[in-house]
Amino acid sequence: MRFVTYRTADGTARPGVLEGDAIRTISTPTMREYVALAPHERIAWHSADDSELVPLANVVLDAPIRPERNVFCVGRNYLEHAKEGARVSGRELKLPSVPTFFTKAPTAIAAPGATLRLSARISREWDFEAELAVVIGARCRDVAESDAHAVVFGYTALNDVTARDLQREHGQWFKGKSLDDACPIGPWIVTPEELGDPGALEIRCRINGIQKQHSNTSQMIFPIARLIAELSKGMTLLPGDVIATGTPEGVGFARTPPEFLSDGDAMEVDIERIGILRNAVSIG
Ligand code: MG
Repeated sequence: MRFVTYRTADGTARPGVLEGDAIRTISTPTMREYVALAPHERIAWHSADDSELVPLANVVLDAPIRPERNVFCVGRNYLEHAKEGARVSGRELKLPSVPTFFTKAPTAIAAPGATLRLSARISREWDFEAELAVVIGARCRDVAESDAHAVVFGYTALNDVTARDLQREHGQWFKGKSLDDACPIGPWIVTPEELGDPGALEIRCRINGIQKQHSNTSQMIFPIARLIAELSKGMTLLPGDVIATGTPEGVGFARTPPEFLSDGDAMEVDIERIGILRNAVSIG
């Protein structure tokens, strides 16, 4: 199944489930509340009225889910990206034994299709990072790797938009990763049974139609089950939590010469069996 959040004519955000090219409305106020239901309870919240099906083409999508708290992220989770980062910063490549977690503020979340309003006064080095994101579907702690699949609600695409100069200046990455509009996600959440193996997906980023990043989620240093196991060690995860699983090589700052986003650029994060997350940027 594929889940969306869409805006009605009066601008209200409503969750729904895709049926072909139409949306069946879900009557929980938000997707987060739907995800928090026990799996066997969820179907009762799907509208039973076929006359209420809404054509997908007629609506504006919102972010499929807006988490209650920060988006969990992983730095350097693809070897080739770790190598390009080390090369540019002149540091020796040292791979961590555990994932490098950081977070993005929930106010950074933006909708698929939205034009991201980024400030040229705040940063002169806006960059893109295509990532597969995991949506957690159950309250959980100390999850074993072998049980990790059971706490996943679904998967979506995410662009970990980054102000590189701020990321560098501040000792922690949080500030440069958390600016408003710097976390578009979507266009929808795909459930595990529809997606299949999340560790075998082609992942790409295109800027103005030109491919900049291309890899496969099989290249993750820490696969998704390991990320969930490590993050949940002694720390409760909540339904609706989002984990961005890291970006592959080809990001702007590591290109020769560096390529940062310009006003009007069109970004596409394209993940196999999920779809394309499109966002233009307005930088001024
Ligand atoms: Mg990232």
